[in-house]
Amino acid sequence: MESTGQLFVLSGPSGVGKSSLREGVRKRFPELAYSISYTTRPPRQGESEGRDYHFVSLETFLAMKEAGDFVEWAQVHGNYYGTSRAQLEQYLNDRRDLLLEIDVQGARQVKVHFPRACFIFVLPPDPETLKKRLLERGTERENDVEQRLKDSSRELLEASWYDYSIVNDVFEEALEELVAIILSARCR
Ligand code: 5GP
Repeated sequence: MESTGQLFVLSGPSGVGKSSLREGVRKRFPELAYSISYTTRPPRQGESEGRDYHFVSLETFLAMKEAGDFVEWAQVHGNYYGTSRAQLEQYLNDRRDLLLEIDVQGARQVKVHFPRACFIFVLPPDPETLKKRLLERGTERENDVEQRLKDSSRELLEASWYDYSIVNDVFEEALEELVAIILSARCR
């Protein structure tokens, strides 16, 4: 059987530190590709098109969804997010390992299509720390912070079906764990 790249899926509640872990791990493994998602969320200050996300209108997103352009998609915290099927297939067919940073609903869809993907959940040390981090990050309005915290309790219930979980208390330790998981998955 022809081999393809290994797919890694990283999930966890908003504010838990997924993006920092993703950036850290990509410094360790520069060959690890990352799939830039499509979203209807407006860009935050400092975010740019094609680097953080492909920012699209609701109309464009729904048309892409209808056309089957997404390998998975979900409505998260009131906005739509999706992973490009073409981008994912290209990386995997090129035998590139690929990291997706997506929510739990999207991860479930990926699990159906790619049961051998490696699913990693990032947990906060406790709910108070999550709230503190989200508030300190200052990227969301107060209403959106409340929504994200409310969604986090539902998201945390999903951690049990993931292959691995990492508690992001001390960042360097969490990063080392993520590196170890990636190394071991590559030896499967
Ligand atoms: P944020 O708005 O903070 O960038 O992302 C909100 C949530 O959407 C995060 O949990 C993030 O992992 C998730 N997300 C980002 N891109 C995708 C995607 O393509 N698909 C799905 N299902 N979730 C995504």
